[in-house]
Amino acid sequence: MRSITVLAGGVGGAKFTQGLLSHLAPLNTSRETTRRVSVIANTGDDMWLNGLRVCPDLDTLMYTLGGGISTEQGWGRANESRRTSAEIAAYGRGWDWFTLGDLDLGTHIVRTDMLREGYTLTEVTELLCRRWQPGVALLPMSDEPIETHVRLAEPADEHDTGELIHFEEWWVRYRAGVPAQEFVQVGQEMAQPTAQVLEAINTADVIVLPPSNPVVSIGTILGVHGMREALRQAKAPIIGLSPMIGGTAVRGMADQCLESIGVDSTASAVALHYGARADGGLLDGWLVDTVDAQAVPELRSAGIQAQAVPLWMTDVDSTAAMAQATLELADAVR
Ligand code: GDP
Ligand code: CA
Repeated sequence: MRSITVLAGGVGGAKFTQGLLSHLAPLNTSRETTRRVSVIANTGDDMWLNGLRVCPDLDTLMYTLGGGISTEQGWGRANESRRTSAEIAAYGRGWDWFTLGDLDLGTHIVRTDMLREGYTLTEVTELLCRRWQPGVALLPMSDEPIETHVRLAEPADEHDTGELIHFEEWWVRYRAGVPAQEFVQVGQEMAQPTAQVLEAINTADVIVLPPSNPVVSIGTILGVHGMREALRQAKAPIIGLSPMIGGTAVRGMADQCLESIGVDSTASAVALHYGARADGGLLDGWLVDTVDAQAVPELRSAGIQAQAVPLWMTDVDSTAAMAQATLELADAVR
């Protein structure tokens, strides 16, 4: 059996993986053609809220692949209600800019309960996935907490002390509208990739960087000590898909993240930021959208096998075609 390992944030990573599973489904007829998929998930967005451990990207992946996602929102549960949040707000507690639904809270309660009992986040995620059956091995990047914080370039408001704020506060409360000076991975010194993550990298036949946020999703995963080295030593080709199309983030606010680390919001700048593997970086191959085809020769001369294909994840079929192009490029560079 061959193995595909995907490094993913929330919405972009989940959508791509959904397309990948759809592409693989007809092949899963015999042991020779079956592909096992592992997803290494960003946990840098995780936080404590009202005493509960919330893992936004893990849950977006689990609910999307398990069929429980709210497709309108792209996160949280379908058919959700907010009675518990309204009660918490009536006590003047919690964050009014980050509301969790009642069904979603069930997940956070189970997770927190198990973490308190001493289970690792990997073990907890495995138990949650027994219910959701996402069709992949869903692996937190680390069992030690790492939380992305943002150092603001200027105070967000008159109450702000200019210190670090949690990434979710910057992203959801301020809609990334306040310039970020830097992203800090709080807890990074104490964290390492799990054994399951390292095995998924070492045994992979293909490693994919899906169109996830290059800074606060994939960048955070790469920031875990030992992760970059493990990827560079992997025998599998590493193929990425651009989250930038036509010089802008397709959905969301990744441009603001790139700006604060001094990288242009273009398909080629993001690829060069990851770097060519032959040149000390990570990438063997890189897919850009057809509107960015002019970037292909530049990237090829930089040692990255680039190719232009449609990269809009408009539905599962178009995303499955992207997954197929990814696996074909992996075969071509192997
Ligand atoms: P998050 O954790 O929910 O922010 O999700 P990810 O980090 O996994 O993915 C977010 C990124 O997906 C954004 O930065 C977008 O640039 C990218 N993205 C979203 N939709 C599309 C799409 O249809 N095509 C491509 N190429 N990128 C997309
Ligand atoms: Ca995220």
